[in-house]
Amino acid sequence: MIIQRVVLNSRPGKNGVPVAENFRLEQSTIADTVQAGQVRVKTLYLSVDPYMRCRMNEDTGSDYLRPWQLSEVADGGGIGVVEESKHDNLAKGDFVTSFTWPWQTVAILDGSLLQKLAPQLVNGRLSYFLGAAGITGLTALLGIREKGHVAAGANQTMVVSGAAGACGSLAGQIGRLEGCSRVVGIAGTDEKCSILVQEMGFDAAINYKKGDVAKQLRELCPGGVDVYFDNVGGDISDTVISQMNQNSHIILCGQISQYNKDVPYPPPLPPDIEKIQKERNITRERFLVLNYMDKQEASVLQLCQWIQEGKLKVRETVVEGLANIGAAFQSMMNGGNIGKQIVSVSK
Ligand code: NAP
Repeated sequence: MIIQRVVLNSRPGKNGVPVAENFRLEQSTIADTVQAGQVRVKTLYLSVDPYMRCRMNEDTGSDYLRPWQLSEVADGGGIGVVEESKHDNLAKGDFVTSFTWPWQTVAILDGSLLQKLAPQLVNGRLSYFLGAAGITGLTALLGIREKGHVAAGANQTMVVSGAAGACGSLAGQIGRLEGCSRVVGIAGTDEKCSILVQEMGFDAAINYKKGDVAKQLRELCPGGVDVYFDNVGGDISDTVISQMNQNSHIILCGQISQYNKDVPYPPPLPPDIEKIQKERNITRERFLVLNYMDKQEASVLQLCQWIQEGKLKVRETVVEGLANIGAAFQSMMNGGNIGKQIVSVSK
């Protein structure tokens, strides 16, 4: 059977900026028959995520991420529908997902590696299983629960960087649902800041590309910062950490501002900021959502409940067509997305 797929065309280099041309669409073939234990799936949605930048390097810098190989099909979070099944627990028409879905229109996959999805949990919005009701939502929720030390009634102020992105937009809302009394976001455009406040219930948002971030943060967080959900690292994080309170907590979710640099993860703080962190006893432990998968089922149900109740507002940026996945990745790395970046492959 003839299919379309997207392969890694070239590497940007450890210190390079990734571009759409690092990926290539090509025609390929898959077997006409499905073997015992396998299913043939049609791809519906693919997830585009910052961690993929590390997979573009020959050495990803982490033991849990495999590098993509040149001229081989890329993969990541995906959702599809079963077209033919020789697996006992999967039937034609089932919606399924995997963290290692190949970037191709149709694939034959090992059925035991797929998770069946229940669309009614997300009001039929299947792509949410890649975002708010998937690994992104889990990252926000479990990051806060495992590393945030949020306590209802404790009058805590949370700051979120990368706040209008997939994780960040959920993290601020979940911080509030879990008990923070004040939530302030930091994002890269006025439009993003306005969505955070008007749609997602943040108390305030700062456009870090305009004006003095430190000054605005001091005005918007007069009692200092108790919990910092850090998606970006770099200068923004140094500014936030400088305004954190004694015994406060950083949720070290990601450091996207450093992903085009050849630095270790997590990157060390500059000496003056590290001094503040130590003197004020600010926790900054590495957080990796994959270490908490025993909490996946209950946490996804919690996220779906909040979505259904309208307590968690979800934004997606959907790009149509497998051919555009490289452009979608490039755009997301440059701030072109609001909420989760999704590629819709076929209806
Ligand atoms: P995302 O935030 O939706 O997308 C990237 C956003 O980052 C862009 O929209 C852009 O928004 C911002 N950005 C890009 N370059 C930046 C820079 N130099 N400085 C500041 N902001 C920049 O992506 P996501 O999937 O939600 O991921 C957010 C973070 O969580 C990433 O660091 C990712 O690696 C991490 N993550 C961690 C785990 C875990 O287990 N720890 C799991 C999933 C994701 P602006 O317009 O605001 O600049």
